Amino acid sequence: MRIVLLGAPGAGKGTQAKKLIEKYGIPQISTGDLLRAAIAEGTALGIEAKAYMHKGELVPDEVVLGMVQERLKQEDCKKGFILDGFPRNTAQAEALDRLLLELGMPLGAVLSVDVPFEILMKRLTGRRTCRGCGQMYNVFFSPSAVDNTCDKCGSGLYQRDDDTEETISKRLEVYKIKTAPLMDYFRTKGILKRVSGDGSIDEIFSRVKAAMDLE
Ligand code: AMP
Repeated sequence: MRIVLLGAPGAGKGTQAKKLIEKYGIPQISTGDLLRAAIAEGTALGIEAKAYMHKGELVPDEVVLGMVQERLKQEDCKKGFILDGFPRNTAQAEALDRLLLELGMPLGAVLSVDVPFEILMKRLTGRRTCRGCGQMYNVFFSPSAVDNTCDKCGSGLYQRDDDTEETISKRLEVYKIKTAPLMDYFRTKGILKRVSGDGSIDEIFSRVKAAMDLE
């Protein structure tokens, strides 16, 4: 199973990726998560990326490509992978094609999770993540039982610092201009599948499995 998850910020790609990992045991490669880890570690790459992320802009292609290349060559990706948040523009998509050709690991499918623009804002401003286990919540749609506390592990929840209204607007604009055209790119290759990302997490997961012919 080699998949790209495509969709606007807030479409629920990360949540669906986590469901796929739980069920099928293949690794998720989220460039956003890798960049946030680099920032937390204070690496040179993290310091460079931080300024772009804070503004809601894309981090330069060569930075992200280097990270993805390194990650895809690791042993656990031999059984498959879920790319989440990558590629985000045509140059990245073309570079991914070249890399996967070189590695002999062609993509099986590109799954687009489609959510109306009006809902995305609420999804993003309401999003909270557990500091301990990474479980995600939404104060509007799927709140934790106790405010700011994870139901699964009891750790505190945090709001990503690029989930502010101003940065969110910028990220959605960047998505429309740079990432949405990838739909056509992958449609032309005949591997694009689309599912509606409106509804409960489990409803969407059922659609994802059906679209991918998974049990
Ligand atoms: P995400 O967690 O996928 O929403 O990504 C958060 C931020 O990380 C984005 O707004 C970008 O600044 C940066 N980022 C993540 N993935 C990429 C990528 N493939 N290319 C460029 N920037 C990225």
